[in-house]
Amino acid sequence: MSRYNTVEQAPPIEVFEINKACLADPAPKKANLSIGVYRTEGGAPWLLPCVKKTEVAMSQDDGLNHEYLPVLGFEPFCKAAVSLLLGDVSTSPPVAEGRAFGVQSLSGTGALRVAAEFLARILKYTTFYVSNPTWENHRLVFFNAGFKQCNEYRYWNEQKRGIDFEGLIEDLKAAPANSVIILHACAHNPTGCDPTREQWKAIADVVQDKKLFPLFDSAYQGFATGNPENDAWAVRYFANERNIELICCQSFAKNFGLYNERVGNITFVVSDPSIIPQTKSQLTLVVRGMYSNPPNHGAKVVCSVLNDAALRENWMDCIKTMSQRILDMRVGLRERLERLNTPGDWSHITTQIGMFSYTGLNRAQVEYLISQHHIYLLKSGRINMCGLNPSNLDYVAAAFNDAVR
Ligand code: PLP
Repeated sequence: MSRYNTVEQAPPIEVFEINKACLADPAPKKANLSIGVYRTEGGAPWLLPCVKKTEVAMSQDDGLNHEYLPVLGFEPFCKAAVSLLLGDVSTSPPVAEGRAFGVQSLSGTGALRVAAEFLARILKYTTFYVSNPTWENHRLVFFNAGFKQCNEYRYWNEQKRGIDFEGLIEDLKAAPANSVIILHACAHNPTGCDPTREQWKAIADVVQDKKLFPLFDSAYQGFATGNPENDAWAVRYFANERNIELICCQSFAKNFGLYNERVGNITFVVSDPSIIPQTKSQLTLVVRGMYSNPPNHGAKVVCSVLNDAALRENWMDCIKTMSQRILDMRVGLRERLERLNTPGDWSHITTQIGMFSYTGLNRAQVEYLISQHHIYLLKSGRINMCGLNPSNLDYVAAAFNDAVR
């Protein structure tokens, strides 16, 4: 009789299950459109040249050791991350006025976890709002951090295959003051639909009027348009132009291809710089009680690349390459579906942005694609565009066509 006998089986995590099922499938023709990772045209992971170059230089640096980082992380990395997000002293008032600071985190998920625990335990906020639908991990992370109540704001309009903006505004207007509103900074996961700039302005109005707390989740800066400044527009508008206090959780997993290095940052924007020391002191205890201090390697890599003109230029080229490949796959898939006269309107494939597309395929069609064509996607119909490449586009389009008929 084990002490663990009472432990019940937890539900599987869909995206990892589907990824595993695809890897185990012996079919010679298959496609993995599930997990959110970048793949080259040849279907392989990509070690960015600027990352490789930095790692080679680091491996030859005799001055490097494995001492602990400070609890809140490697300060030059945090500074570089904050500037990548908000701009520098010449463009961002919070940066110029010392009202923005960063805390290194265990990638985007860890940033969300630390931010959520700080909001729940220190600011005593209890309610958070997520878009319907949202990244499937938001709820788990926020409840584990101490939040009591999760509400949804409307986001996806199935008929329009776009944002239900009236619904979104109506739901935010009805939110109690001090609700934490999780907003996707760009490349919304899973829908691939972002608000327009005018719509972001209207969202900022409601956030300010109703005294809501905006928490941006920025997991794809640079991935959406190929330009990190464009992709930070919404966060910059809130922080730099509207002077709204906010938190932004940044991941460097996708835009640097550093998935397993767990490189992230939490950017805090505050209205009064005098509260920063006590805020940092509480964040220090949050981190100390969770994992004590963050890892060094990935943060050093990102910091070195962002602070070196030539490496940074190479990184900008890399994110252009990655985002352009995604755009090409969007065009390629839509063209093929239209050429096959696949029933329905497929224009959303090219209007959506970022790594994912919400195809509109229903549960039965998804199951059919998996069982009959060995094409693996989430049951919501979400596909990772990076799973497509010139060698499998025809196959995938023909299978979608078959599944829809
Ligand atoms: N937020 C969103 C919307 C995501 O899609 C992801 C990753 O898929 C993350 C956060 C966190 O990713 P990571 O913890 O790997 O940085």
